[in-house]
Amino acid sequence: MELDDINTITVLGAGNMGHGIAEVAALAGYDVNLRDIKEEFVQNGYDQIEWSLGKLAEKEQISEEEADAALDRVTALVDLEAAVEDADFVIEAVPEKMEIKKDVYGDLEQYAPERTVFATNTSSLSITDLSEVTERPEKFCGMHFFNPPVRMQLVEVITGAHTDDEVLDLTEDLAEDLGKTPVRVRKDSPGFIVNRVLVPLMNEAAWMVESGDATVAEVDSATKFDIGLPMGSFELADQVGIDVGYHVMEYMYDVIGEAYEPCPLLEEKVENEELGKKTGKGFYDYEDGGVDIPTDAGTEAAVLRLQAVMANEVAKLVGNDVAPADEIDEAVMLGAGFPEGPAKMADDAGLDDLLDTLEDLHEETGEERYAPADYLREAAEQGGFYGEEDEDESEEYDAIRVERDGNVAHVVLDRPHRMNTISEQLLDDLGDAVDALADDDDVRALLLTGEGDKAFSAGADVQSMAAGGADPLSAVELSRKGQQTFGKLESCPMPVVAAVDGYCLGGGMELSMCADMRIATERSEFGQPEHDLGLLPGWGGTQRLQHIVGEGRAKEIIFTAERFDPETMADYGFVNEVVETDEFEDRAWELARDLAAGPPIAQEYTKRAMLKGWEDTEAGLEIEAQAFGHLMATDDLMEGITAFMGDGDPDFEGK
Ligand code: NAD
Repeated sequence: MELDDINTITVLGAGNMGHGIAEVAALAGYDVNLRDIKEEFVQNGYDQIEWSLGKLAEKEQISEEEADAALDRVTALVDLEAAVEDADFVIEAVPEKMEIKKDVYGDLEQYAPERTVFATNTSSLSITDLSEVTERPEKFCGMHFFNPPVRMQLVEVITGAHTDDEVLDLTEDLAEDLGKTPVRVRKDSPGFIVNRVLVPLMNEAAWMVESGDATVAEVDSATKFDIGLPMGSFELADQVGIDVGYHVMEYMYDVIGEAYEPCPLLEEKVENEELGKKTGKGFYDYEDGGVDIPTDAGTEAAVLRLQAVMANEVAKLVGNDVAPADEIDEAVMLGAGFPEGPAKMADDAGLDDLLDTLEDLHEETGEERYAPADYLREAAEQGGFYGEEDEDESEEYDAIRVERDGNVAHVVLDRPHRMNTISEQLLDDLGDAVDALADDDDVRALLLTGEGDKAFSAGADVQSMAAGGADPLSAVELSRKGQQTFGKLESCPMPVVAAVDGYCLGGGMELSMCADMRIATERSEFGQPEHDLGLLPGWGGTQRLQHIVGEGRAKEIIFTAERFDPETMADYGFVNEVVETDEFEDRAWELARDLAAGPPIAQEYTKRAMLKGWEDTEAGLEIEAQAFGHLMATDDLMEGITAFMGDGDPDFEGK
């Protein structure tokens, strides 16, 4: 079966996950049968979809018409035969009990057509075991959405022992068509990827407290403020439900063994029904103050221990061919909101140190959970999960140059023959360079310029984008990649100055938006010409520009697609200073050095706080990326590009 053959998707179970998955599928244009065992349950799920679609329309993420059309595509049913007789793809989201699921698959097999693929949304049960209940184990896989499916980007697509590769490919295609990012889990391994990293982290946090080595406050402070995860380990356990984490841990203990012994502290909480937020009390008391984590209580030992345990889980996953390190990182960033993946974080922390930490703990306690995975040793020898990280080559890139002068790092966009336009290579180089510089305490400011005297950057490399642009998904990815790469500058700890001489257009202007200050020569020109091409600014421009110049000016710049001189851009608050061309270089360096002399910690926190203050940018960026993908497939884009290349006027038809 191909993606085009999927028209009707049946979702079994209209609970928390089922109704969300049904909503996502309906939004993507599929006919959806939503089935539960009682009229009131299925009606409740349907009502929740209606409510949620209404919210999306209210927030203008979709139009009223789209909301109505999506709801029209959902049929709520109790009769199983009617629900599945014409289903092309079934997603099962009934309670997490083996017996219930087995019954469901038994019944399902009676009514579902032979061609139908079965996918389970189970969080922890064995895909292979479930598949063996059916008569089509080769057409069976895991499709693990995250809660809430409407908002969470990740879908883990999990193979069972019998699953056909084509079924996995199809399921990934479907996940993408639903607007999600699939990550393949290549072995039916307990906890898959995200929970396999998160749950042992919570367990280790509990062991640290249980053994008297640290307090809850110390562990959570280390997790949240030193490692920089979105929540403290205990805060996360309370959020997810201590019982949920505990059961996953018990399951891993049963299936994998000793190293996953659940901490008695978790068991105690479960017995006392202190399950976290949902019961009002867990590790924190939600009726009395709730989560309260000191910012500076984390110790180095706690940080190392938590990171070591996470690195060990990553190593086990990679070593057992469940997934490669970069995909684990992607999954955990999307599924758990980590700012960086656990493999990358482990590399940054130094695998040698993490390995030592585990070996010491293993020797002291004799506990199996600290036994380092073989692959962790291997990765440490290779210099990290990502191999020998560019230490020596870090300043050698193709599309940019990085030069140091004292504590200022000068990043030069180095494609003067193409007006420093931004290619995928340039994005890769820039991302790597900013990662490396952000970690380097000797660098206190970044100065960003374009090579030559024509352009800072004249935009995206339209030719290379058009070449790869027929596929809207790759365009969505390209948009996200630009958003994220530029976002690294915005969130890097040190101040960034963009010094503009010449064209600063489109993607180039979006790049400059991520600097903290911008100076420009009198001869510079700014603009967002995307609308002239039938596109939109897809590298953060729809969000970031309005934060700098206000919505009115941002819309003026984007909708008119005109060129703006630097004086006007200074009036709009985009350019901080306009300088004469012959003073440009001196002034740029003077400003960068001034900022480099500033207080790094205050600067870092100022940046972080101001960035945090932008409400709901994520939602905006998501819409932007989706829209960018959509636009890539339009005739207007070809029209715009052809006119652009030939210097004629485009004739847009809105197609
Ligand atoms: P839930 O209890 O909210 O919903 C389950 C629904 O299934 C209920 O409405 C129940 O009436 C219905 N049901 C029971 N038997 C059925 C049958 N025979 N046919 C059709 N429906 C039936 O549970 P949930 O949180 O939505 O979880 C569902 C699945 O998704 C579980 O496997 C769970 O592990 C997984 N999951 C949950 C989360 C989460 O955060 N809640 C995240 C990812 C995956």
